[in-house]
Amino acid sequence: MSKVIVAGGGVIGLCAAYYLHKGGHEVVVIERGDIQRGTSFGNAGYVSPSHFIPLASPGIVAKGLQWMLSASSPFYIKPRLDLDLIKWGLTFWRRSSKSFMEKNIPPLNEILHLSRALTSDMRDELGNHFRMEELGCFMLYKSATTEKHEIELAKEAASLGIETKIFDSKGVQEMESEVEVNVRGGILYPIDCHLHPGDLMQTIYNYLQSNGVQFQLNTAIEGFEKVGRKVSKVITDKGDFTADEFVLATGSWLPIVTKYLGVELLLQAGKGYSMTFENIERNLRQPAILVDDRVAMTPMGGDLRMGGTMEISGLQSPMLIKRVQSIFNAAKNYYPNLPVSFPSSEKIWWGWRPLSPDGLPYIGRHSKFDNLVLSGGHAMLGLSLAAATGKLVEEIIGGKKTSMDITAFNVERYN
Ligand SMILES: Cc1cc2nc3c(=O)[nH]c(=O)nc-3n(C[C@H](O)[C@H](O)[C@H](O)COP(=O)(O)OP(=O)(O)OC[C@H]3O[C@@H](n4cnc5c(N)ncnc54)[C@H](O)[C@@H]3O)c2cc1C
Repeated sequence: MSKVIVAGGGVIGLCAAYYLHKGGHEVVVIERGDIQRGTSFGNAGYVSPSHFIPLASPGIVAKGLQWMLSASSPFYIKPRLDLDLIKWGLTFWRRSSKSFMEKNIPPLNEILHLSRALTSDMRDELGNHFRMEELGCFMLYKSATTEKHEIELAKEAASLGIETKIFDSKGVQEMESEVEVNVRGGILYPIDCHLHPGDLMQTIYNYLQSNGVQFQLNTAIEGFEKVGRKVSKVITDKGDFTADEFVLATGSWLPIVTKYLGVELLLQAGKGYSMTFENIERNLRQPAILVDDRVAMTPMGGDLRMGGTMEISGLQSPMLIKRVQSIFNAAKNYYPNLPVSFPSSEKIWWGWRPLSPDGLPYIGRHSKFDNLVLSGGHAMLGLSLAAATGKLVEEIIGGKKTSMDITAFNVERYN
C-alpha cells in the first residue's frame, strides 16, 4: 500500500481520499482553504444521470453566442486576449460536433450511473447526514419549442435505458402541494437524486478525519520536486511533503497546479451563483431545472436553493448582479407564490465549475510521470461524478482493473 497525497479538498479530492483510505492507503489531503466553503459546498446538489449529454454538443456554440448579447442571460464569456481561453474555445467548438457528442455520451452515461449507485452506497455506509432524497429531478418548460426538445432528449434517454415520465402542467402541479407552478409541462427523471452538498462534504470530512486520514489545511501548493519520472515532493507555503503517489484534484485551479509540473491542461472556470433560503414557509417538493432559463431549484429539507448562470470570465471576476437577479426572476416566474425575496449581496454564493472543453472529466495518469494521477474538469457534474471518480482513482493507484473503461477521460486527449 502507498502513501498518497491528494491535492485539493473539494468533493473530488475528498471522494478520492475516501476510496483510497478504503483501499488501505495512507492518505494526506492538502487543501489551501479549510473545507468549509467553495464550489463543492454551494452547488445545486443534484446527482443526475439525466445529464448524459456532454456540455460540448451541437447547437451549444450558436446558443451561447445568442445568449452573449443579453446582460441577463444564463451564459457569458468575458472577451479577452488570453491564449488559454482561445485554445479552450477552439477545442470546445471542435468537440461540439455531433460525432464527438455521440462518442462521448456512452462513457458519460456509464460513469454517471456508476457514481449514482456509489453515492447511495456512501449514504448507506456513512449515514444520511446530508439530506439525500431519491425523488428524481424535473425538467420544466414553458415553451412548445423547449417541450419538443426535451421530449427528443427523453427518447434518447430511453435508448440508454433511462426512465422518464412526461407530465402536463396539471400533472406537475399535482406533484407540488404547497407552491403554485406555472409551466407548460415537465419531464421527470426518477433516477436522479439530490442532497445538501455542504452536509455531504462535512460528513465525508468527519469520517475521514476520525479514520486516520490526515488533513493539511490552509496550506497552498506552490510547486513540486521531481526525480526522473517520479514526483518526489510537493512544495507548499507550510513546507514540503513527500509521498509515493500524488493525486491532483484542485478543481478550477487544476491547470495552475499542473503547470508547476510542466503539464498543460485545457480547463476554464465557469462561474455560477446560488441563493439559499432557509426554513421557508412553503417549499417545493420536487427538485427541478427550469430549462428555458437554465436555473436549478433544489429543496433541501426546509431550505430551498436556486442556482444558475455560466460565466467564463476568469477566477477573479466580480459578481454580476443582473445575472443573479435573472435566476431569482426565473424562479418567481415558474413558481409565482414562492415566499422568498431577493437576498442581500453578502448572502449570494458563487463557485467555479472546472470546465474541460468536451465536458468530460480528466481522470488518469499522465504519461510524463509514473506516480501522478489527475482528477478534475468535472464541469457541472462534479457532485454527480465524485463517487465514481474517487473509486476510479483508487483503482488506478492500486493497479486494479478499473470499474469502467476510462479511455474517454484520458488526461492527454487533446494533445
Ligand atoms: C452554481 C453551481 C451549481 C452546480 N450544481 C451542481 C449539481 O447540482 N450537481 C453536480 O454534480 N455538480 C454541480 N456543480 C458543479 C460542481 O459543484 C463542481 O463540478 C465540483 O464542486 C468540482 O469539485 P472539485 O473538487 O473538482 O473542485 P473544488 O470544489 O473547487 O475543489 C478544489 C479544491 O482545491 C483547492 N485548491 C486549489 N488550488 C490549490 C492549491 N494551490 N493548493 C491547495 N489547494 C488548492 C481549492 O481551495 C478547492 O477547495 C455546480 C456548480 C456551480 C457553480
